[in-house]
Amino acid sequence: MQALISKLQGQFPTLRFKAGQQFSWSPDSGEIIYIDGASGKRATWSLLHETGHALLKHQTYRADVELLRLEVDAWERARRLASDLGTEIDEDHIQNCLDTYRDWLDKRSICPTCTTKCLQQGDFIHYRCFNCRSVWKVTANRFGRAYRSTKLAPSKIPAI
Ligand SMILES: [Zn+2]
Ligand SMILES: [Zn+2]
Repeated sequence: MQALISKLQGQFPTLRFKAGQQFSWSPDSGEIIYIDGASGKRATWSLLHETGHALLKHQTYRADVELLRLEVDAWERARRLASDLGTEIDEDHIQNCLDTYRDWLDKRSICPTCTTKCLQQGDFIHYRCFNCRSVWKVTANRFGRAYRSTKLAPSKIPAI
């Protein structure tokens, strides 16, 4: 992990890395959070993915539909980083991550009252059901961990 961070740091001196609980990108602090001591392929891929978000300067507070686009872009950037480092990211892994993410977005958009799939409101925090008119709140989008405030088990929340 440290060797990879040093390489990335050398290539992109403005990037800032900080040890934390999970791999994530924090647009607010401008830091890439990594798990200290993590090793193996998946950890490497996660770090490259979050670095992708950082290099593309992704911001918070986007509509859910737009977030998926940003996830795809971050993986695209991560692929190029990997190839610069003489390695590659498993394509199945990328597709799995995106699928998990799609499912998660899908669940956020389903009405907790009548299970109709709905569209997000303009403030990016509320959904309103066009069928039964329920309104529900989801957490603001962040490139870390965000989740619907009700009815979603923590185990189903993907790290994004
Ligand atoms: Zn409803
Ligand atoms: Zn991501």
